[in-house]
Amino acid sequence: MSRTLLFRKCCGLFIFLLSGVVFAQEKLPNVKIFTTGGTIQSKGDHRQKLMEYSAGKVAPEELINDLPELKKIANVTYLEESNIGSGGMNTEILLKLAKDINEWLALPESSGAVVTHGTGTLEETAYFLNLVIKSDKPVAVVGAMRPFTAVSRDGPFNLYNAVRVAASPKARGYGVMIMLNDEINAARDTTKTNTYRVDTFVARDMGPLGYTDSDRISFYRKPTYRHTAKSEFDVSNLKDLPRVDVTYVYQESDASALNAFVKAGAKGIVLTDNDDKAIKKAQKKGVVFVKSDRKGSGRVVESEKQAGLGIVTSDNLPPHKARILLRLALTKTKDAKEIQRMFNEY
Ligand code: ASP
Repeated sequence: MSRTLLFRKCCGLFIFLLSGVVFAQEKLPNVKIFTTGGTIQSKGDHRQKLMEYSAGKVAPEELINDLPELKKIANVTYLEESNIGSGGMNTEILLKLAKDINEWLALPESSGAVVTHGTGTLEETAYFLNLVIKSDKPVAVVGAMRPFTAVSRDGPFNLYNAVRVAASPKARGYGVMIMLNDEINAARDTTKTNTYRVDTFVARDMGPLGYTDSDRISFYRKPTYRHTAKSEFDVSNLKDLPRVDVTYVYQESDASALNAFVKAGAKGIVLTDNDDKAIKKAQKKGVVFVKSDRKGSGRVVESEKQAGLGIVTSDNLPPHKARILLRLALTKTKDAKEIQRMFNEY
């Protein structure tokens, strides 16, 4: 074989192999990361700083480029929604986030979505999305307990696992998932339980949905309450959500907070205990009440007395999650019986 022919054959083989690689990459699932900020995007002064750090220091590109392994599991793109600590999350960002995710998941070529978020209110955003995302495709909300710069930081591996789940057809139909510490947890059932530890997110009454271990993603249970594609809530035309506040009851607390919230324009209030007189007065102004509890696990059982007073019970939703559902419920109705139905279904 002449040298030129050999050269041509080698070139042909190289191009053939290259096109195979490009083809294989094109066939990877498409995952979009919607970034909002939090500790997962924060930096400290040195590697031992686990608590003192500044938010908003890790741009989405840096977060993604730090994990070249992602290229092997998905075609990853991103959209920066905000760059805030989760205490600053607000209705405007939530509504835009939900609309952007819905738009992405409606595309036939999209496989799933990941949301980065501060852990402080992560479960509220996750539950909100669980109620308003119109797709069965996986949505994984991810955070970190340690800054990006820390020794033994947890963010990158949490993000890697979140992308794995979002890319997996196996993860469809589980609703929105919270992804930290190698666990897959259901948005509805899960709460941050520890101020500092990496195993902070726990579904106290239910346990995790599954795990992201190195051999495979395994699921052991499926949420039965309505969510995502089966939800009746639609935020596509909403510019705001009704104001709902939470009152926390302790020894010698009185109705001052409740009355102040009514005065401030609350359309709904989640209670951790009753003050019947103040409630009746506020109900006359159209305020809707939901009874939750401050213990952090267990159901608030429906009673004839509560129903008679027109007070909805929260099932096992803690006050801050009952607030999310009540806001969405109030976009549809003010009828306590109908809202109770929603609390029993979502
Ligand atoms: N302060 C942070 C936040 O909620 C905590 C975290 O992200 O872990 O944004």
